[in-house]
Amino acid sequence: MVEGIKKIAILGSTGSIGTQTLEVIEQHPNRFQVEVLTAQNSADLLIEQALKWNPSHVVIGNELQFTKVKEALSSTNIQVHTGSKSLEDLVQLDSIDIVLTALVGYAGLLPTIKAIEARKTIALANKETLVVAGALIMPLAAKMGVSILPVDSEHSAIFQCLMGESHNPIEKIILTASGGPFRGYKKADLEKVGRAQALKHPNWSMGAKITIDSASLMNKGLEVIEAAWLFDLTAEQIDVVVHPQSIVHSLVQFEDGSIKAQLGLPDMKLPIQFALGYPNRIPANFPRFDFKNYANLSFEEADVDTFKNLGLAFQALGKGGNMACILNAANEIAVESFLKEEISFLEMAQLNEYCMSEGTFLASPSLEDYIETDQLSRNLAKAWVKNNKK
Ligand code: NAD
Ligand code: MG
Repeated sequence: MVEGIKKIAILGSTGSIGTQTLEVIEQHPNRFQVEVLTAQNSADLLIEQALKWNPSHVVIGNELQFTKVKEALSSTNIQVHTGSKSLEDLVQLDSIDIVLTALVGYAGLLPTIKAIEARKTIALANKETLVVAGALIMPLAAKMGVSILPVDSEHSAIFQCLMGESHNPIEKIILTASGGPFRGYKKADLEKVGRAQALKHPNWSMGAKITIDSASLMNKGLEVIEAAWLFDLTAEQIDVVVHPQSIVHSLVQFEDGSIKAQLGLPDMKLPIQFALGYPNRIPANFPRFDFKNYANLSFEEADVDTFKNLGLAFQALGKGGNMACILNAANEIAVESFLKEEISFLEMAQLNEYCMSEGTFLASPSLEDYIETDQLSRNLAKAWVKNNKK
């Protein structure tokens, strides 16, 4: 059954998830329409996308690029905006059905809150939003009757395994992790790794921040926290297993001991399309998984002694309050500083641990508290980087 056309706002349309979302939409012109496109710095690609998709509005975050985008689109009816505040305003447009959050980091928080308040369905790629303030987002979504549909492949897998199981409690979930480019490395090996090696992910092609997070297992840590909020789980109910082939996208174990898993080739277009099409599955010509090409699907324990970030994320989840917000902000600075080659690979986790121990803990933060925590933790992290610069 094809229902009416769904109108989509893509926040972060020029990134890895954003461009793959447009590829999905291109395959289904009778189901989806692009209403809003946004980018931070990539003006040229945003212009190209706008000319192709003819959305009602575009946002270029970087104000220095505004004139360029405005002039390039002057012969169209597309309205051009700039600044982060315009994201918060535009997500509320009556014409939008789904807001797909594919921007990076903390920047996703306020637009997502505004979109939920305006009762838009959220297709959530931006996991940092739930890491920072899941305690505000989930009750707000429940209050507004808004669905938060996960785009992250692991969470989409769990969501799919839970379909038809709403009356059955979850015993635990098992998140799979590829292990990243440094799987099997020990501390001594990691002392020498640089930016270029960390940016080479074995299975997925993604934006720089999540690629570094995958190499340090911070991504899995953020996903543990994301899963806890999405599926209402405690830290004790979440396991992580390393699965280098990235075919089993995650698993759910029920109270009878039965486990359900969702499988597929590593291709983000699958979970993106699932979220946009939900509750319907849409026929697609994606390449199919074939067991003949995968004689071995293997599973191994995650090395939390070497990859400290995963343990830090579990700690932050267990502690609650603003601790995950502190960790997230520290990690954003850590990744940025590592990419600028100001700190080493192992120093990223040291910096995160430092901010978690030095940051001011708040047990029941308000939105204003989260905003302040983010700022304070960034400042703390930047000062640490300054003192520890190579
Ligand atoms: P990316 O770096 O490729 O793209 C980010 C997009 O957001 C770009 O369009 C960029 O212009 C925009 N952007 C960046 N900073 C911004 C800011 N401060 N304000 C507004 N817009 C900004 O990133 P990505 O790999 O597509 O990841 C996007 C989100 O999806 C992240 O939260 C990531 O963790 C999550 N995610 C990505 C993947 C993947 O395969 N890439 C998988 C699962 C989850
Ligand atoms: Mg993931």
